[in-house]
Amino acid sequence: MNQTLTLGSVDVTRVLEYTGATRPPEAMFPGLDRATWRAHEDWLAPAFWNPATDLLQTCVQTWVLRTADETILIDTGVGNHKQRPGAPAFDRLDTDFLTRLRAAGTEPEDVTTVVLTHLHADHVGWNTRLVGGDWVPTFPNATYLLTRADFEYWHPEGGHRPRLAAANEGVFDDSIRPVERAGQLRLWEDVLELGHGLRLEAAPGHTPGSAILTLTSGRDHALFVGDLLHNPIQIVAPDLSSCFCEDPSAASTTRRRTLARAAGQHALVFPAHLGGGLAVEVTEAGPGFAVRRWGFGQ
Ligand SMILES: [Zn+2]
Repeated sequence: MNQTLTLGSVDVTRVLEYTGATRPPEAMFPGLDRATWRAHEDWLAPAFWNPATDLLQTCVQTWVLRTADETILIDTGVGNHKQRPGAPAFDRLDTDFLTRLRAAGTEPEDVTTVVLTHLHADHVGWNTRLVGGDWVPTFPNATYLLTRADFEYWHPEGGHRPRLAAANEGVFDDSIRPVERAGQLRLWEDVLELGHGLRLEAAPGHTPGSAILTLTSGRDHALFVGDLLHNPIQIVAPDLSSCFCEDPSAASTTRRRTLARAAGQHALVFPAHLGGGLAVEVTEAGPGFAVRRWGFGQ
């Protein structure tokens, strides 16, 4: 089910692509000790963790932001028919994501901007779709925004091998190059103002070119943080980086800084993969942070 929340003059709608179990907590967060997990597992189950299987719950979703004259997508999920041998859960996925997007009131032609928080397989997949054997941009009228840092880091001819190279194999060729060829890719660095109180900022660590999108509209603040958080345990223990972080230490620094800002501003935090489609408000607590409330408008 699609859900919409209005922040200032911006409507935020969640469109779900995929939901499922992933891996045990310690596999996802190599620095985690079980005692920390146990102290919080009562509220982490069942939305974020299945105690019967000891597997984390995740989802892949796109945020659709509507202003008076723009439709902006934040991340484009896994996509259909993409060959992902290094990421079995995402290999040749076939979902009705575009139908759900239309049900949320957005035709692909309506999209004016696609924000890519980083260049991972589960964030850029619907950049393109398969038409007659070719990958073509799914959103023909959109400008796709990607950091130059991630474009260069994940470029197959970039001359180095990222930590997640196997899981991301093929992604650049089927989801980035066709957009670049169509003249729809715009690379940016440091900060990019989008108008309507929306601003992209570099947030390195998870990948070198990871970014967050900040929204200030009326009295409302929101931070769309991509994969800065995979699970709420990282709110109470912000130094826990995931096994998918290219630079775990830089990811921790960025996470702490971003959570402190969210707590100070009473900003809603929108992580990419939080089960249940939840946005979170956080507060400073001890060495880390705590969840003040979570939820999302219907
Ligand atoms: Zn992700």
